Amino acid sequence: MRIYLALALLACARVVPYTRTPRSCQAQAVDLVWRDVYGRTDRPPDVWWVPPARLTCQEPGREKGLPTTASLTSGCMGGNAWAGGVDLIWYDDWIRTDLAHEFAHVVQARNGLPPDLEHASPAFQPGGRVAQANARLAEMTCHDSAIQARRPAAEVH
Ligand SMILES: [Zn+2]
Repeated sequence: MRIYLALALLACARVVPYTRTPRSCQAQAVDLVWRDVYGRTDRPPDVWWVPPARLTCQEPGREKGLPTTASLTSGCMGGNAWAGGVDLIWYDDWIRTDLAHEFAHVVQARNGLPPDLEHASPAFQPGGRVAQANARLAEMTCHDSAIQARRPAAEVH
């Protein structure tokens, strides 16, 4: 029995889990994007953080990402979204992290729209809601740690 338990724990240890432990200023960043910019009154998406060990791909000139083989999104992702939540990769601040981007996908999913995998809809265009949200994140001051949004908005995808 003890051996089986040890083996089970070893097996679990090999799979690096995603975590829901909030980053510094996460509640404020989520509120700012979800409620203030996107105007939502429903429950914000759950945020799952992708552990660095899962970032095994990198496209030229970009940061490491999460590999995917899904037919339309094949390549290296900076995040993932579904109606209930998002997987995010922490890229050192709230702007480079795809919070606003993935939340825009969640809005579309909750509105019953098909996934805009090519980012052709208005939200993803220059000056669109994702850019507006990142501009607001750039101005966000947060007091729960030294980590703050501090870089100008940049296109991560
Ligand atoms: Zn996207």
